[in-house]
Amino acid sequence: MRQAADPGVQDTPLAALLRARIAADGPISIAAYMSVALGHPEHGYYATRDPLGAAGDFTTAPEISQMFGEMIGLWLAERQTSLGPETRPVLVELGPGRGTLMADALRAAPPLRSLPLWLIEISPSLRAEQAKRLASAQWAETLDAVPEAPLLLVANEFIDALPMRQYLGDGARWREVQVGLGEGGALALGLSAPLPGGPTAAPLPGSPTAAPVRGAWAEQSPAAERVMREIARRIAAHSGAALVIDYGYRAAGRPAGPTLQAVRAHARTDPLAAPGEADLTWLPDFDALATAAAPLAAFHAPQGGFLAALGIGRRAEALARARPAEAGAIADALERLTLPQAMGTRFRVLALVPAGSPAPPGFSEERTE
Ligand code: SAH
Repeated sequence: MRQAADPGVQDTPLAALLRARIAADGPISIAAYMSVALGHPEHGYYATRDPLGAAGDFTTAPEISQMFGEMIGLWLAERQTSLGPETRPVLVELGPGRGTLMADALRAAPPLRSLPLWLIEISPSLRAEQAKRLASAQWAETLDAVPEAPLLLVANEFIDALPMRQYLGDGARWREVQVGLGEGGALALGLSAPLPGGPTAAPLPGSPTAAPVRGAWAEQSPAAERVMREIARRIAAHSGAALVIDYGYRAAGRPAGPTLQAVRAHARTDPLAAPGEADLTWLPDFDALATAAAPLAAFHAPQGGFLAALGIGRRAEALARARPAEAGAIADALERLTLPQAMGTRFRVLALVPAGSPAPPGFSEERTE
């Protein structure tokens, strides 16, 4: 007879599936865990729900205020103009959620409406939400399926949903953090054997050549790097521009510890507690993203500075004059999007443009190339 499950054993359909897979084949990477927990076609987090907004698990910038998508729309339209009237770019959003950002962008910037619009989305339920707001859109599962053309692309809180691998230094080598089975058969974190190749071969951020010190953490997302390389290939070949926005850090501000986190009903939870029922995210290293996008020119800004430079303050004043009853809510939204203690500095913006281009609107000359 099988033993009754331990009270600590996770009981979602995906937890059962993952336990069986690990029992049969051995521990899996954090990346493999994330891709099942988020992307499983039947029980994955994004496949089964609309996670956004007050009733969901988290709130994103476009859901806070229309002003966010409007500013992005103005930025994309300026880039469209700078490409010249003879160029016909494709407009692409990666992970559009409810489609709110793009709907606000198209309303604010009519020239964008003439462009073919492609939405990269794995979730059938979110595709249905997007179709309600973006009638002319076409969908694809990856950027590779979008026609070759000059590219105008935006991705807000998309990179942090892609699978990520974690490593811990043991003083000489890296070991990979894995999901295995612990007490009572529950999903539990463990470490791989030391990775082969010796410390100098470890191609990890933070410590690419020196032996990783004991307790050093490194995170790397091959999936995010693949997306950045594809954006770079297209912009280098056909021109265009991309904006990548996320809660993340520059290399100099790298957090000392691991950044994987789970959020359920607006509260932090254990990432292994309920696979398929909690959102899993991590903090991208924006310098690693820019490096993966070589040879493009990369410009960095905190979200608050970027939005302020594009005129979100004046937009908020105009909106408040037009809708005096909502003036307080508009002022609150402006603060949430731009103040350092809210989303203003923790969220960062990365602009990618062809090598040698001057700084696009919203960015100063600080660049990595
Ligand atoms: N950009 C939106 C939603 C962010 S949530 C906003 O700011 O509100 C992350 C989005 O990326 C969701 O739409 C999710 O379904 C989608 N997504 C996550 N992983 C994906 C993948 N591997 N491929 C395509 N879309 C993905």
